[in-house]
Amino acid sequence: MSECEGDLGAWRNQSLDSPIYLPVGIPVSFQVLIDTSSPQVAEALSRQVLPHPQESQVQDDESFDPLGEARYLVTPRLVHQYPSRVLLLSTGQCLGYCRYCFRRGFIARSTGFISPQEQKDVCSWLSTHPEVREILVSGGDPLSAGINELERLLNGIHQVRPDILIRFCTRGVIYAPERFTRELLLLLRSVRPLWVIPHINHPGELGPQQRQCIEKILDSGISLQSQTVLLNGINDSAGILVDLFQTLASLGVKPGYLFQCDLAPGISAFRVPLSRSLPLWREVRRQLSGLSLPEFAVDLPGGGGKFPLSAVAIQSQIASVSPPAPLRVEGLDGKVYTYPYD
Ligand code: SF4
Repeated sequence: MSECEGDLGAWRNQSLDSPIYLPVGIPVSFQVLIDTSSPQVAEALSRQVLPHPQESQVQDDESFDPLGEARYLVTPRLVHQYPSRVLLLSTGQCLGYCRYCFRRGFIARSTGFISPQEQKDVCSWLSTHPEVREILVSGGDPLSAGINELERLLNGIHQVRPDILIRFCTRGVIYAPERFTRELLLLLRSVRPLWVIPHINHPGELGPQQRQCIEKILDSGISLQSQTVLLNGINDSAGILVDLFQTLASLGVKPGYLFQCDLAPGISAFRVPLSRSLPLWREVRRQLSGLSLPEFAVDLPGGGGKFPLSAVAIQSQIASVSPPAPLRVEGLDGKVYTYPYD
């Protein structure tokens, strides 16, 4: 039960009959990547940002709030689902708009950057919950905000909880590497402990500018752990994923998570069913060392929390049951959650 659902809690109540509007935006640096890539890579990158004809088609099991985050709001911006960490929805804006975005219901509400009053509420909650040791500053993309707004937010959190580990979750390393200015890096450095969590889906996203950006972040004494979404027709091959994770590890970025696509509305064209993703994962795992291997996980639909799929993938008997059954597992709250197999 949430302490405070607030206005943002209403995003889960949006009717699936209403238009699902996600803005269209292709960042300049990403367009440069598209323009300078081979036709095959350019296609994989373009499909991530160009509206898909099936975006208005909603499946029965899809939801505006596929992770059930609204259930766990403790202030209008703060999600407390796990005992030791919280998620801050800092903004509904992004640097570019990924067509497979699982928070499209939240983004579509065009929520601006967290206000001073909302920040005060968040900091006040954090100051009374010392058991929370990590905060994911996400959105939207926090890097879509200006340096002054970011300074206010990050300094505010660091002042009330200098011990808390900040996970700065952004697609900015790929979409807008130029945003990692000296000023921003000094700010990020000053509020450590802080990790940058870049969202990276394809080795073709790691152009010269993006690689330089990663190097600058590392040179500033800040660690990086990546997250990747498994996307149909974009990175759903063992060769692409192995290349991506090995390249990231070589650049000094720990591959953190590969996520099974969520049950967000209008993104079924991007979803790789478990019937394909589990065998694919087995092949990726076979080719990678522990250092280069991320966790393969799914966010259980409706609020059950993250569930590691690696163990399921290596139990070949589960992947080959006949007829294939949906994945049914116990969530963090003890309830049983289901994710379709096909
Ligand atoms: S950057 Fe993140 S929040 Fe923004 S559209 Fe892409 S996936 Fe969604």
